[in-house]
Amino acid sequence: MTPERVSVYVHIPFCAKRCAYCDFNTYAWRGAIVRDTLEAIRLSIERTEEADVVVPTIFFGGGTPSFPAPELIVRILETIRERFQVLPDAEISIEVNPGSADRARYALFRQAGFNRLSMGVQSFDDRLLVALGRVHTANEAFRSYDAARQAGFGNINLDLMFALPDHSLRQWQHTLRTAVSLQPEHISCYALTVEPNTPFFRLNQRGLLNLPDEDTDLKMYLYTIRALTRAGYEHYEISNFARRGHRCQHNMVYWRNEQYLGFGPGAVSYRRGVRWKAIRNPRRFVQAVHSGAPLVQEEERLDATASLGETLMLMLRLRDGVDVKAVEQRYGVNLPQRYAHQLNRLRRLRLLEVTRDRWRITTKGLPVANSVCAEFLA
Ligand code: SF4
Repeated sequence: MTPERVSVYVHIPFCAKRCAYCDFNTYAWRGAIVRDTLEAIRLSIERTEEADVVVPTIFFGGGTPSFPAPELIVRILETIRERFQVLPDAEISIEVNPGSADRARYALFRQAGFNRLSMGVQSFDDRLLVALGRVHTANEAFRSYDAARQAGFGNINLDLMFALPDHSLRQWQHTLRTAVSLQPEHISCYALTVEPNTPFFRLNQRGLLNLPDEDTDLKMYLYTIRALTRAGYEHYEISNFARRGHRCQHNMVYWRNEQYLGFGPGAVSYRRGVRWKAIRNPRRFVQAVHSGAPLVQEEERLDATASLGETLMLMLRLRDGVDVKAVEQRYGVNLPQRYAHQLNRLRRLRLLEVTRDRWRITTKGLPVANSVCAEFLA
């Protein structure tokens, strides 16, 4: 039997400092616990019972994988290669923060086999970077980007954010223009969302966060699409833009609701219809690895209906939309029949374009894409 294709995600839950808007599972810790956690992640990969797969993509995310000692990160990648059959042309990405990566670090990552960088730039406006609690300046982002190119990275993503506190359309246009002038292969643009349990949430509750109104938010998003497509980027997912041949293959796995294994504190895995999540707290994760206790904190078995709903919801995020025949084959259902009600409604509202082969969110539907996608959840 041909082994299944399963992607690998590694969660490095540490950052130099927590940003004011961040609700990811990450900690501004230093010292032995960082080293111990990375070694525990490595051991959990070495001991996994899920290694009977071929791996088309690997993604080191976080947190800030470029923050801890790079040789420990490289060691984890080596262990993945020892334990799994990683495809020779696998996309191997690492998230980096311009404040914690220099040329030597990039060179080490490149040499180890990482072939894609995702750089958390967020903005080229120093005042906004301070407001966000980022540890780097715009100049540091330029230097870091150049260093990554010099180290041989030919596939770089820049992460940018809009709809920030006191953010004007002009400032956003400047950030986008600057990003385009650097000619990265990929650009991700997300609107800020204020998440509970973050400093931004508390500020917002006290009325101290001056967020752009919905109208400006929408203008920023529509401008993004216009500007980036004009600059030669393909708008291939609601928030993602790529040069030809540079879509993020790892994220495509998520958007097609395909299988992946996650390693590290709080990492999520999805295989054979089961989704599970590892222990979130790094100290508890390390203890569990050393005592041989189960690393799973939550587990959810998705029945066919729930899985189908999620697949549609995720695929609709892609500008290619839902490949009707492929999904029908995967789930053995007649899609137009099963979703007749939703299709009629969304088509009437001109939010969804429906043909025999594809369902695609229309340009009108893009600003409300999350609600359109949610219609298909079980
Ligand atoms: S660098 Fe990224 S993961 Fe770390 S605190 Fe900031 S937003 Fe969160």
